[in-house]
Amino acid sequence: MTLSVWGYLPEFEKERDDIMDAVETVFRSGRLILGESVKAFEREFAAYHGVPHCVGVDNGTNAIVLALRALGIGAGDEVITVSNTAAPTVLAIDAVGATPVFVDVHPDTYLMNVDQVESVITERTKCLLPVHLYGQCVDMDALRAIASKHGLPILEDCAQAHGATYHGRIAGSMGDCAAYSFYPTKVLGAYGDGGAVLSNDAETDARLRRLRYYGMESVYYVVETPGYNSRLDEVQAEILRRKLTRLGDYIARRRTIAARYAEAFAGTELITPTVAPGNEHVYYVYVVRHPARDRIIAELKKHDISLNISYPWPVHTQSGFAHLGYGKGSLPVTENTADQIFSLPMYPSLGDSEQERVIDTLHRVLATL
Ligand SMILES: *Cc1c(COP(=O)(O)O)cnc(C)c1O
Repeated sequence: MTLSVWGYLPEFEKERDDIMDAVETVFRSGRLILGESVKAFEREFAAYHGVPHCVGVDNGTNAIVLALRALGIGAGDEVITVSNTAAPTVLAIDAVGATPVFVDVHPDTYLMNVDQVESVITERTKCLLPVHLYGQCVDMDALRAIASKHGLPILEDCAQAHGATYHGRIAGSMGDCAAYSFYPTKVLGAYGDGGAVLSNDAETDARLRRLRYYGMESVYYVVETPGYNSRLDEVQAEILRRKLTRLGDYIARRRTIAARYAEAFAGTELITPTVAPGNEHVYYVYVVRHPARDRIIAELKKHDISLNISYPWPVHTQSGFAHLGYGKGSLPVTENTADQIFSLPMYPSLGDSEQERVIDTLHRVLATL
C-alpha cells in the first residue's frame, strides 16, 4: 500500500469507540445545530489557550474571514502577511475586500521575516496576519512591538500550529484574534471541516457570534450586520472535544517522529527543519529541503512513498493573484524555498516501521544523487 504524508485511518481504528460515541451522543441530544457540544468545545478550546473567548466556525478559511470582519477590516484596507502559506490565508483577505501585502520569509525557518514588516506599512495598513507555518510560531515579540507602535491589530493564522509555543506562550494567545482550522490533517483535526476564532474581548466575540449566524443575535431573527452561515457542526464539535483531550499525545508523537527524522538525516545533504529560538514546534508538516527535490519525489514514488509539497507555488505567483502585481523575483526567499522544499510522512499514527521504510528509502535515493 502507498504510504502517504497524511492519514487518519489507523487513528480511527484506535479511537473508534470514542469517535462513534461522540457521533451518537450528538444524534441523541435532540439538538443538531449550535447545541451543547459546540458550547462545550468553545469553552474547552478557549481554556486550553488561556484566552477568554472562542467561537466555533465551519472551517479555517471562514475563521480568518470572520476574524478580519470582526476586526473591522474591509474594502480599501491592507493586510500584511506572507505568500508561502495555504492559499486560504490570502483568499480570506480577498474575500473581505482588503488587499494582501506580502513580506518575505526567513530562509531557515520559512517564517515571516518580521524585519520587513515596517517597510510595507502604509496609511491603509489595518492588520498584521502572521502565519505560524508548519507548526512553529512567528517572532511574536518583534511583531507585537511593531503592532503596538503603529496601533495595528494582529490576527494569528494558527491553522498549522495547535499547541505550538513561543517563549512559553501558546500560539493563539499572542494576538487580538486567532484563526484555527480543524481540517482532518491538522494537528487537531475533525472528521470533516471545522474551524474556530479565539479573541480577547467580549465585543469582538459578540461580533463573531453574529457574523457566523447570518448576522443575527441567535434568537431574534433580525440581521444587524449582514453575516454568513458559518457555524461549527455539532458532531464535529463533539469529536473535537474528545480529540482535544488527546492533543498533547498527538503532539508528543509528532515530536518523536520529527526527532527520529532529524537524527536519521543529520550529516546528509537533506536540510531538516530549524526550530527558531524559544519555539516548541508541533510539526504539522515535516518540511525538508534539497536542490534535487523533484527527483527525490519521483524516486520515492517508485517505492510507493508519496510525498507532498507545502507549498509548490507561492500565492503571489498564482494566476488568480496576478492582479496584485508581485512579479517573479519580488519575494526571492519565498520563491527559492518553494523550489526545494517537500514534506515527509508525518501524522501521529505513522508506525515506527513505516517511518524506517521512509528513512531507508530516502537514504538510498540520496546516495545516488
Ligand atoms: C488549512 C489552512 C487554512 C484553511 O483552513 P480550512 O479549514 O481548510 O479552510 C488556512 N491557513 C492555513 C495556514 C492553513 O494551513
